[in-house]
Amino acid sequence: MKRIAIALLALPFLCAPAFAQSQGNLKVFISVDMEGITGVVNWEDVSRTGKDYDRFRRIMTDETNAAIEGAVAAGATEIVVRDSHGSARNILPDLLDPRARLIRDWSGGPKVMMEGVDESFDAVIFIGYHAKAGTPDALLEHTSSGDVTDFSINGISMPEAGYNSLIAGYYDVPVVFAAGDKALCEQVEGLLGDVETVAVKEGIGAAALTLHPEVSHERIRLGVQRALSNLDRFEPFKLDAPYTLVLKLKTEESVYRGSFFPGAERTGDWELRYSSDDFLDVMYAFGAMRR
Ligand SMILES: [Zn+2]
Repeated sequence: MKRIAIALLALPFLCAPAFAQSQGNLKVFISVDMEGITGVVNWEDVSRTGKDYDRFRRIMTDETNAAIEGAVAAGATEIVVRDSHGSARNILPDLLDPRARLIRDWSGGPKVMMEGVDESFDAVIFIGYHAKAGTPDALLEHTSSGDVTDFSINGISMPEAGYNSLIAGYYDVPVVFAAGDKALCEQVEGLLGDVETVAVKEGIGAAALTLHPEVSHERIRLGVQRALSNLDRFEPFKLDAPYTLVLKLKTEESVYRGSFFPGAERTGDWELRYSSDDFLDVMYAFGAMRR
């Protein structure tokens, strides 16, 4: 079984001779969420039972392909795509650019939306990302589950893009590009400083002013190519250990349950705290403390 799996995984690269001739030898990790995909404005758009879900998962796949094209143009020779939304089974495997390999479903490990990333990668890209819980004029803003009202590390409140950048930083890999709504782009720039972004839509209250998908794809392709062609510009996102997570949750039940996690401390009415010198340890605790 294992041998068959390896043969299948190697196949896309054998089918792309032009790709194999690329000069850069870059290895790129792309984490793809769905709330920040072009046109998405309602939870129905990103839920398997929603009438327009199939259309948006197609756009999600195309938007990922635009990033892959940009990466290949900049010299990427190995690309791993991590489907990071809901079931983690949204991207249409047969319509994904065959030069990439795809990680589907949840592993159970602490890297979650970053499952598969390690020190062998040169750069990380976020596609379809969204702003943190409580952000004004942001589309489908939330942090992790709907139960989290705030997530902070060492006093810095951050969206999923923030702690996922810390996971990349754990392996000394910089996040070089992010696409999502305008609010997401502002939050990522505020945290990471030098990072290439593309805003595919802008929140107007709970409505969205959105680009046409073809326009988004062109901007993403060019933005990813530009970022990966200037890798020296970017630094891995790191904070100093120990890493102290302060987690604010929405319900008494969640806080009470989370307070029993070994090492967790209840520090407020609906607030938990957990500290460790190992950031992946903190992410594991986060997964166990929230629902
Ligand atoms: Zn999502």
